[in-house]
Amino acid sequence: MKNIKYCPNCGQAVEKGAAFCQNCGASLNPPEKRASRTGRKKSKKQQRIIATVALAMLAFAGYYLWGSSQYSKDQQVDWIMAALVSPDEDATRYIVTDSATLAVNHENLAPLQKFYKEHQTAANRMGQNFKAGDNKYGDFRFVQSGHYAGTFSEIQAAGQDLSAGGGDQP
Ligand SMILES: [Zn+2]
Repeated sequence: MKNIKYCPNCGQAVEKGAAFCQNCGASLNPPEKRASRTGRKKSKKQQRIIATVALAMLAFAGYYLWGSSQYSKDQQVDWIMAALVSPDEDATRYIVTDSATLAVNHENLAPLQKFYKEHQTAANRMGQNFKAGDNKYGDFRFVQSGHYAGTFSEIQAAGQDLSAGGGDQP
């Protein structure tokens, strides 16, 4: 009985190993075998697509990891604070104002930077405060102002009063 198979189409007993049913002519090859052969052809194309997508995702993941550390909050706070205590440096990239009347330019910021150069502990406190997640310190607020490289949140310090010492707490 082991050598007897039945045609899946008509139910007639057929010889094992026969390619076609002698009664109805239906193909007796297991359909999954043929399917896997065409599947293999397909999967080569699919593999190439998957590899390309995986590579793109990997590249983006790497880029995102790099950017996340390059433009991390702590890193940006360090940039802002470094600019805040350096009167010679143009800090307009890092410091904005809520005041509608005061234009933020290098000249206007220089006295503030001079103040913080002489009061670096205040600047350090402010920086630590911001890093700890408190977005307000004295007259300064930390604001998200845009994106670096179109992807990574850009942080700026917004001051209500940018006159010298405006951000210091008594
Ligand atoms: Zn048959």
